[in-house]
Amino acid sequence: MQQRVCRHRAMEIIFMGTGTSQGVPMIAHDAPDLDLENPKNWRTRPSIHVEMDGCHIQVDAGQEFRIQCLRENIRQVDHFILTHRHADHIMGMDDLRRFCTLRESPALPVYSTTDGLQCIQNIYPYAINRTKPINRFYPVFQLLEMPAVLELDCGRIHSTLLPHGPVDTLGLVFVERSSGKKAVYFTDCKEVRPDQREMAGNADVVILDALQPRKHPTHMSIDEAVETALDIGAPQSYFTHMAFPVDHETVERELPDGISLAYDGLRVIL
Ligand SMILES: [Zn+2]
Ligand SMILES: [Zn+2]
Repeated sequence: MQQRVCRHRAMEIIFMGTGTSQGVPMIAHDAPDLDLENPKNWRTRPSIHVEMDGCHIQVDAGQEFRIQCLRENIRQVDHFILTHRHADHIMGMDDLRRFCTLRESPALPVYSTTDGLQCIQNIYPYAINRTKPINRFYPVFQLLEMPAVLELDCGRIHSTLLPHGPVDTLGLVFVERSSGKKAVYFTDCKEVRPDQREMAGNADVVILDALQPRKHPTHMSIDEAVETALDIGAPQSYFTHMAFPVDHETVERELPDGISLAYDGLRVIL
């Protein structure tokens, strides 16, 4: 008798980058407490790549997006989500051109807030409002307002607006169709409101902004992120968007069980 082949491939999150807007280490800056012998302290601009039921969703593309794709051997992007317009999230989007070329229909669905979409229009006018690319190597974006719930064949993505100073950031909750596995990505935020913590409830993994030990006006500090992670109560939480004062080993040692620092190239399989 022929064995039934299980087509389900687990949900996977790849940490493409885990650094802050300047990356870590910073240009022309000494940070004596940062152990540069540890590769986990070399952080490129922050983004994640999510695979759900074989569908590939790229969230943000910073300045090192091309290098991150080569490093992680990314072969496909089916949907792109821009969380907000800051340079460390938007400035690598031109390199999505390769994934447009590889698609059957080249217009790549690109989701963001009204503000994010406006900024994409301003930076990449040559990729917008085209049914065809200028030539087959050019990017083509189909700009779409991110709905509260984006229904895809591979699953569902809930969105919410997180406070990030003068800008709102899309907070994202991914739920895979076949397995019901749930992953939360709340980057670039000063806080996570009670209703948003509720949205993140029962997640298998929660990823939170945690800039540095010191308080910051637009990002959560390590302590604020710890409080948020413990309150949400996922079995595993990861911190991202860390600046140069965060030495991986030193800070990780102090974190409660179930909370870890992410690092570039970390893959989480659910
Ligand atoms: Zn950022
Ligand atoms: Zn930001």
